[in-house]
Amino acid sequence: MITKTTIVATVGPATASEQMIQALIDRRVTVFRLNFSHGDFASHQQTLDRIRRLSKTAAWAVCVMGDLCGPKIRAATIAPEGRLEIDEQVIIRADSEQGTPHSFGITAPQLVSDIKIGERILIDDGTIRLVVADKEADRLICTVQVGGTISTGKGVNLPDTDLNLPAITERDWEYVRWAIDNDLDYLALSFVQRAEEIFTLRKTLTEANSPIRVVAKIEKPAAVKHIASILHASDALLVARGDLGVEMDLAHVPAAQKQMTALGRRFGKPVIVATQVLQSMIHNPVPTRAEVSDVANAVMDYADAVMLSGETAVGDWPIQAVEFLAHACRVTERSLDTSEAPRPTIETLPELHDREAVTRAVAMMLDRLDARLIVAWTVSGQVARLLSKARPDVPILALCPDARVARQLAFYYGVLSVHAAAPRDMAAWLEQVEALCLDNGWAARGDDILLLPPEGLLSPHSRWAIMMHTIAG
Ligand code: PGA
Ligand code: MN
Repeated sequence: MITKTTIVATVGPATASEQMIQALIDRRVTVFRLNFSHGDFASHQQTLDRIRRLSKTAAWAVCVMGDLCGPKIRAATIAPEGRLEIDEQVIIRADSEQGTPHSFGITAPQLVSDIKIGERILIDDGTIRLVVADKEADRLICTVQVGGTISTGKGVNLPDTDLNLPAITERDWEYVRWAIDNDLDYLALSFVQRAEEIFTLRKTLTEANSPIRVVAKIEKPAAVKHIASILHASDALLVARGDLGVEMDLAHVPAAQKQMTALGRRFGKPVIVATQVLQSMIHNPVPTRAEVSDVANAVMDYADAVMLSGETAVGDWPIQAVEFLAHACRVTERSLDTSEAPRPTIETLPELHDREAVTRAVAMMLDRLDARLIVAWTVSGQVARLLSKARPDVPILALCPDARVARQLAFYYGVLSVHAAAPRDMAAWLEQVEALCLDNGWAARGDDILLLPPEGLLSPHSRWAIMMHTIAG
């Protein structure tokens, strides 16, 4: 049984070896995330080269998403680490001298003057909470409201402060250039607040003639507020529940997630649900009930992809995490009766209206027909993307003559994408399709599969055909 929900795995020390990358490919991780918040160019280059080399042995395409860290603020040097207790006083300084747990700097010292009395400073995913009690020229005098252990590099969130930071930092721009030079498939931008920031990144990509697709990471309340314009500017959304749950009232995060998945569905763009997906599996071989329920609910809400972060980057059970995630998604997918689900029109550009109509009709046909698979020939990838969003009840085998488009399609729900040479004629195409299905166990002799053949193989005045085909083998 093929898992339709896309599995995104963050590569880190626990999974960067050849053996582990191979194991992840074998378990159908189709999106590998390189997190630029950690590591350096050399380590990311090595991981990327390994993914590219090992993925050649798989019949299906996999893609790589670089994650730009954006204006993430961190605690500057603190030595030695130590504990903060409730009601203690802590000084946040604007200088770059070495700090102690009770007096330290932040990686964006110019912000210290923007933070006002009464505003909160949250540290380490919000575990530690400080509130500014008083302010001097270049330091903030804070009171500890919730204590904890503090050390160098811990994330700092300023949910109450109007931040005057560039959305794409100098370091990010270096990674953008690296991503362009290395032909990455997707770039995710962290801490997006408005659509203009996505346009800025896109402009650079366009000028460099780069087809990299852009993912907006939604982790600021401002992004939730501007979600429609951000979605229109981006190719996909990532619901970054880690920072989002710190930046806004955590109780609002589930509703925001549902709003985002619904919007992605309406406008035909994929949505990734991320962070703490199977968090307990960082240390345990089995997940908690609540984690599995969260994954199942994301699938039921039509999320396209689920992402593992620490679970695969630094966890003790990365393979088990991927296996369980795929299993939980698969079981939930099968429990959904898609024929009962409404299939609203996907709002697309006018030039795609005909394809949207055909792909949605195909999905509706498949509620009634007993086919194993849809096989679609796609040059631009558009047909596969629309099919994915129409949520047919069976997997979509997308055959694509362009290697990069094939890789980018690996991101989409239900899509198994394969880089394939353009067929000479219909007989050659059917032979190619049957061989792929049989060799990979995607369908068996005697199974019916639905085909959307290449336009060039139809008669000169025909544009569309939907064929039902029985695998003869
Ligand atoms: P991060 O983003 O892992 O880069 O912090 C995800 C999140 O904040 O949820
Ligand atoms: Mn984040």
